[in-house]
Amino acid sequence: MKYTFKGGYHPPDGKEFSEKKSIEKMPLPKIVAIHLHQHIGAPSKAIVAIGDEVKVGQPLSEAGGFVSIPVHASISGKVKAIAKITDAGGSKSNAVIIESDEKDEMFEGVGVKVDYSNFSADEIKKKIAAAGVAGMGGARFPTHVKLSPPANKKIDYIILNGVECEPYLTADDRLMQESPDTIIEGLKLMMKTVDAPNGIIGIEKNKPDSIKVMRDKTSAIDNVSVIELEVKYPQGGEKQLIYAAIKKEVPSGGLPMDVGVVVSNVGTASAVYDAVALNKPFYERVVSVTGESINDPKNVLARIGTPSSELIEFAGGVKEDVYKILNGGPMMGAAMYEMNAPVHKGTSGILCLSKENAKVYTEQPCISCGKCVTVCPLNLLPTDIQLNVQHGKYEEAEKLGLMDCMKCGTCAYVCPSKRNLVHYFSIGQAKINEMKRDAK
Ligand code: SF4
Ligand code: SF4
Repeated sequence: MKYTFKGGYHPPDGKEFSEKKSIEKMPLPKIVAIHLHQHIGAPSKAIVAIGDEVKVGQPLSEAGGFVSIPVHASISGKVKAIAKITDAGGSKSNAVIIESDEKDEMFEGVGVKVDYSNFSADEIKKKIAAAGVAGMGGARFPTHVKLSPPANKKIDYIILNGVECEPYLTADDRLMQESPDTIIEGLKLMMKTVDAPNGIIGIEKNKPDSIKVMRDKTSAIDNVSVIELEVKYPQGGEKQLIYAAIKKEVPSGGLPMDVGVVVSNVGTASAVYDAVALNKPFYERVVSVTGESINDPKNVLARIGTPSSELIEFAGGVKEDVYKILNGGPMMGAAMYEMNAPVHKGTSGILCLSKENAKVYTEQPCISCGKCVTVCPLNLLPTDIQLNVQHGKYEEAEKLGLMDCMKCGTCAYVCPSKRNLVHYFSIGQAKINEMKRDAK
């Protein structure tokens, strides 16, 4: 049986730069800037003040609502400031700045093993929320919220996303090979919270070592299976993964829970284990620092709040031919606006590209070739949506499915005229959201 979806495309995957590189711990940063809002939902509220001494794993903030999570100190030291700091995309928001005391002292109880065998679903969710766990695949949705479906939504499957279909990125691949047990325990904990009878781990075929490790480790677990997915972008999209795995289509405007599924990234599963079993908040993550224009591509374990420039330096610095540095992969990542932008919970990669691979083109008129329509995994009409947005016909674009578009960039990638389609979709989606807010 072929596990795949309709549409999509397979760009050169560039994984060879870092797929064989074991995860290396970054040296402790001297200073970190930890944004209070690193997730989808309400920003968290600071509970520390300038001058406070903090330890690793200590909460710096409290959740600002149900769809919100706290952030935690990633180094021990003194709170130097609470100020607006520029993120990788160029937006400024409040962050707690900590100067290291170089002691790396743990907050009380952090990292201490917990017997969680008798924890109830609610106790597990409370631990996940308190640890500030958010989706690590990019969406950064608070995990305890995903694991709290309404009573009328029965969850049959937790599907772990080990696809990592973005070219170049290898952080999840390495984590599966190096920490399979924590991922599997995290999966079991998530299954317990929603009483899901089945667990599936989806991995693309271009990660044979991860497939083998995860299969070996789950072979004795009856209700957990590992599936080998065809290599195609965007196989890691929630809807595409669900369809490939269980052949169910999430309805337009719907959520995975509408078809009885919760999807979570493998890194998130590992963070769930850490939160529940080790009382360890989310204060570090694996990041791929890669591309043809970095001297020594690596997968690194970096503390949240570390300046991105330190990760680049740790990977030997950029080569002379570097042309573009992206936060994330080449399909959905964005050019780094600020090189000192702190690593946050959704930072999966820092990608250094040469001019040849940076794909900088001048937009040409549409030639109506239809290639964008053929590859769209959601059966949308990208060119029609783009034209409607361009001419301010937002409601028409919405009728054509603008709000379903996940901005995967596959249509723009194959477009021979290099139409900047995703740019228009972003504008259109923002405009529709604004119109809806105004109407309320
Ligand atoms: S960016 Fe949107 S329109 Fe383009 S292929 Fe992806 S889902 Fe389809
Ligand atoms: S792929 Fe580009 S040129 Fe072809 S129809 Fe779509 S927008 Fe037009």
